[in-house]
Amino acid sequence: MPVGHSVFQKVDGVSIQLFRYGNLVAGALVLGAPSYYLARAVQDAQNDLIGQNLILESISRTDELTQLPNRRYILERLAQEVFGMKRTRAEMCVCIADIDHFKNVNNSFGYDVGDEVLQKVAGAISGVLRKQDVVARWGGEEFLIMLPETSITGGTVAMEKVRAAVESLRLPAYGDRISVTVTIGVAVTTGDVPIESSIVQADAALYRGKNSGRNKVVLQ
Ligand code: GH3
Ligand code: MG
Ligand code: MG
Repeated sequence: MPVGHSVFQKVDGVSIQLFRYGNLVAGALVLGAPSYYLARAVQDAQNDLIGQNLILESISRTDELTQLPNRRYILERLAQEVFGMKRTRAEMCVCIADIDHFKNVNNSFGYDVGDEVLQKVAGAISGVLRKQDVVARWGGEEFLIMLPETSITGGTVAMEKVRAAVESLRLPAYGDRISVTVTIGVAVTTGDVPIESSIVQADAALYRGKNSGRNKVVLQ
């Protein structure tokens, strides 16, 4: 009699069934576990990618030095706002604030201190605005401020607050040696002209402010 046959003879029917199902379960585990972990790894990688894309998107909208929205972002927001205003007929103010004689800060204290001043000014401007307002770094030492649903009177009041906040700003590390001011041009729009025209108007008002003494708010 073959040896194998005698072995099977010693194993009763129930044991054979258990052996079979045991094998099935073990097989399922051996095959199932890797595919489970593979599916999880794919899911994790996808989540990472989504997270990284969100971070990249946020970086592409943010000015690295001041952490304010950048020019690209505020142009998008202005366009969105104008689109909405066609329905609501509300007014919006577009303002440009430019630090006065900023070159002097760099020349006297160095570019790093200049950078620190830019960060502080950015914080001071953001600190006095409403939640729905947006301030962006427009370029160098210039900030563009968008005030949705704001009349020229409201815009003047808000920009006077910004002007005063920057004027009273101090950098404790430098005692009273550093203080800066801003000149601000304000334009109002109902969304019936291209937003670029309002920016040009705000810039023209700013220019008039620069030529008439600085540290002031000038209307279009
Ligand atoms: P005004 O009152 O006419 O605006 O004078 P200003 O000196 O502020 O203007 P100007 O346009 O002559 O010079 C702007 C200065 O801003 C020159 C440049 O070095 C400085 N600036 C621009 N971007 C940065 C920056 O990222 N960091 C630092 N530290 N300085 C900057
Ligand atoms: Mg400038
Ligand atoms: Mg300047």
